[in-house]
Amino acid sequence: MTRLQKGSTTLSARTTVVGVIGMPVDHSLSPRLHNAAFTALGLDWVSVGFPVAAGDAPTALAGAQALGVRGLSVTMPHKEAVADAVEEATATVRALHAANCVDLADGRLTGVNTDGAGFVAAVREDGWFDPAGERCVVLGAGGAARAVVLALAQAGASEVVVVNRTRRRAEEAARLAGTAGRVGTLAEVAGAALVVKATPAGMTGVGGADHDERAVPGRGQVAVDLVYDPPATPWLAAAEDAGARCRNGLGTLLHQAAFQLERWTGLEVPRLALWAAVSPGGPAARDGR
Ligand code: NAP
Repeated sequence: MTRLQKGSTTLSARTTVVGVIGMPVDHSLSPRLHNAAFTALGLDWVSVGFPVAAGDAPTALAGAQALGVRGLSVTMPHKEAVADAVEEATATVRALHAANCVDLADGRLTGVNTDGAGFVAAVREDGWFDPAGERCVVLGAGGAARAVVLALAQAGASEVVVVNRTRRRAEEAARLAGTAGRVGTLAEVAGAALVVKATPAGMTGVGGADHDERAVPGRGQVAVDLVYDPPATPWLAAAEDAGARCRNGLGTLLHQAAFQLERWTGLEVPRLALWAAVSPGGPAARDGR
């Protein structure tokens, strides 16, 4: 039998395969996180990136079923298409109409969404911030913002105020938070305990680095940017300069991956092993600059 050596794992015909589907997918950190977990847990599993073009998610899922792939992470542009294509979906997937994960236990396709739970776990990590009873503002109303809005409401936030340039999308997102949710304006950033930026502005390769200064939280406030490349967008850097406690999106990425891995493997995933895989500067590097 041919055996390929990759890191400390010996791949063979018995190796369990998981992966991430997206386009582009070559810069995804998910396989690095998954493989770090498999090494830490001593599992004969491997994770790879599968470039899947827009519109091809259903075909990719059928292929994964036929090949015995155990699980898939799902990134842009497939989260909505996967929510439509799976055989079963969690309540969160149904509410968000988006799946960031497929569980293929017994070859059956179950759609899962761990983005919101990953976000809440990231802000709660090390007792950093608990959204319960707090007024929160979410900037943006796309897929990531919607997951955060729902998760903040489920975590007991007293108010979840959505601020977005397209009002209709803001209204749809705010509804996810039930009675705690409403549409607001940038003027409300100043009165929030937590401000979450869920827009791609300032991301590497994306324009829109400029921001309205009313969007920047300051002293006594907590700022989270879901972007993690660069580690600090101009918005997050401005919030830090203004005295806010800041975190970028790396923690959210890490914890949403950990929840997916736990679902696939049935094992507890050591978060420190994942941090070591993506934050070479150590845990201190997780907070942006
Ligand atoms: P999306 O569905 O395309 O939504 C983008 C949202 O941002 C929309 O509400 C859009 O407003 C708004 N927006 C876009 N450019 C803007 C700008 N220049 N100024 C103000 N608002 C702007 O994207 P998404 O999937 O929600 O992702 C948003 C960001 O989160 C991306 O950078 C993504 O990489 C990141 N993300 C990170 C994680 C993580 O694990 N850390 C997970 C998911 C996503 P309109 O509605 O008006 O168009």
